[in-house]
Amino acid sequence: MSLDPALRTHALAAKGFMPPDEGDALYDAAIAAGASVPGLPFLEVGSYCGRSTVWLGGAARACSTVLFAVDHHRGSEENQAGWEHHDTSVVDARIGKMDTLPFFRATIHDAGLEDVVYAVVGQSPLVASHLATPLAFLFIDGGHGDEPARLDYERWVPHVVMGGTLAIHDVFPDPADGGRPPYEQIFRPAMESGRFRLVSATGSLRVLQRID
Ligand code: SAH
Ligand code: MG
Repeated sequence: MSLDPALRTHALAAKGFMPPDEGDALYDAAIAAGASVPGLPFLEVGSYCGRSTVWLGGAARACSTVLFAVDHHRGSEENQAGWEHHDTSVVDARIGKMDTLPFFRATIHDAGLEDVVYAVVGQSPLVASHLATPLAFLFIDGGHGDEPARLDYERWVPHVVMGGTLAIHDVFPDPADGGRPPYEQIFRPAMESGRFRLVSATGSLRVLQRID
């Protein structure tokens, strides 16, 4: 079973960074997590304009659960002016800062996912410290610097229950392919902890299942 074609069209129409094949793999991973750990929510760190969120929201609906979408909506370092992944159309001219929340809301509204996807607007590590729910599925695609990635690992990964899934985006084992923090601060520690097994790799997406 793959994402409903109408929903997939909404995902692809949204601004963002999730390649279609990796979005489809993300959907499959979330569906599998929802089947192996029924009844628990999914959570995404780093939603931007809601592109990956549509694949995950569609999976949450199919699994009769919900998706928390955590983002401060001010952009990562690499989304700011002067950096490679900057888009001037997501800057709030009034304050001169990025604000992707209106784009996110439009994406989720248009996709018809408002009853399934709950935006949590704030700093990921602080939200992680104060949100106590166990998770069936965790997708980390937030700040890609060393410190944000390390904090996302440290504070979010313990929420994943046994049999649940940890998916990580922008994992580049070879530095020639891209920035290393998601690999060094999230993927490697998770594998070296012995608590996760690698389930699949699609592009820079890695899907791990908690086994211990
Ligand atoms: N998953 C998205 C892309 C996410 S881009 C897609 O499919 O297109 C990374 C996002 O992480 C940005 O929107 C940025 O605002 C968010 N982010 C970065 N650091 C964060 C932090 N410390 N707390 C909350 N959100 C953060
Ligand atoms: Mg990414």
